[in-house]
Amino acid sequence: MIKIAVPKESDLGELRVALVPDTVARFIKLGFEVLVQSGAGQGAHFTDSEYEAAGATIINSPQELWGAADILLKVAPPGEQQGEQEMNWLKPSSTLISFLNPLANPEYIQALAQRKINAFSMEMIPRTSRAQSMDALSSQANIAGYKAALIAAASLPRLFPMMTTAAGTIPPAKVLVIGAGVAGLQAIATARRLGAVVEAFDVRAAVKEEVQSVGAKFIEIPIEEDTATNQGYAKEVGQSTQEKIRQVLTEHIKKSDVVITTAQVQGKRAPLIVTEEMVGEMSSGAVIVDLAAGQGGNCACTEAGKDVYYNGVTIIGPLNLPSTLPVDSSKVYAKNLLTLVKYLVKDDAIDFNFEDDIVGGTCVTYEGEIRNERVKNALATLVQA
Ligand code: NAD
Repeated sequence: MIKIAVPKESDLGELRVALVPDTVARFIKLGFEVLVQSGAGQGAHFTDSEYEAAGATIINSPQELWGAADILLKVAPPGEQQGEQEMNWLKPSSTLISFLNPLANPEYIQALAQRKINAFSMEMIPRTSRAQSMDALSSQANIAGYKAALIAAASLPRLFPMMTTAAGTIPPAKVLVIGAGVAGLQAIATARRLGAVVEAFDVRAAVKEEVQSVGAKFIEIPIEEDTATNQGYAKEVGQSTQEKIRQVLTEHIKKSDVVITTAQVQGKRAPLIVTEEMVGEMSSGAVIVDLAAGQGGNCACTEAGKDVYYNGVTIIGPLNLPSTLPVDSSKVYAKNLLTLVKYLVKDDAIDFNFEDDIVGGTCVTYEGEIRNERVKNALATLVQA
């Protein structure tokens, strides 16, 4: 019987948990044994007794839990605890499934390979319809986009919706969303629900209809270069295109009460879109929420994890917004993991069939080797530098 283990996240500020009691019950029904570290669900408001009622065995010692795992399910990459590397507690040939940030951290992936841990990175789930229910980047980005709009509304010194009162009519706030991927579209939808007037821009012109379907106006900027990879991700655009984008957006940013930026390019620093000069032209009281803060920021004034005040404008650079809504972000993440594990396990063992695009794309280390070409390239670049 395969033993699945769920540890308590050790990163400070990580309130999510990899499995919730409902999903534990589903795993038990499928014939897995599930071990949960005591207190693992505390941050997300799930108690040990709820996990026990779902069929899990509660384990107190983290070392014992990690050491017993055939498959360890985690949210954040294993880190340090009690002065020891958590990954060293895993037995060789066990499987780790977690967010691992492999393109930004290839040396860490190398260390996992050296420890002979077979690791699957949740960031690398292919963006295909077949893998949609395993797509943790999307499930978490959706929640981040929602929270970004709420933070913007709560930080703005004026109202989001139009209000017609006996004391006069208050016009709605103007929100601009830059980057209309999963997080951006949810930020638009949430800002619209709160009554703001929303416009949006993305380098991938293909998102125009999606932007319009959630109630925003799409800002059209004719771009000559190819802006999307064949997987549908944005490519890094050249300096002259980026300059052209900035020129058009300057006027829109100036008129906006709120700017929510979500622009990212996989494996690269986030594109710098909002310059200090552009922030300087915004009205006093305006708010920028930069969801790319952890990847270097889309705004020149952003400081990751901090609120910055610049000429009357508040620039908020939140990190890990899904962790601020740990109940639902854990629930959807657990569902992503359940679908993935069910897909991977055949006849009571993981089927490492690298011909399959989900296995081949997501598995980053196997039997002491780095599997993924992009991770290998990232490591080679690092070694050369
Ligand atoms: P992301 O988080 O990588 O980036 C956010 C957005 O920023 C993207 O829409 C991107 O085009 C945009 N962007 C990048 N550079 C920019 C710039 N210089 N200026 C303005 N915008 C810029 O994106 P994501 O939400 O992960 O989505 C990426 C792609 O994956 C999209 O095509 C999305 O439709 C697709 N997707 C597919 C599936 C699926 O089929 N299962 C699921 C989720 C997402």
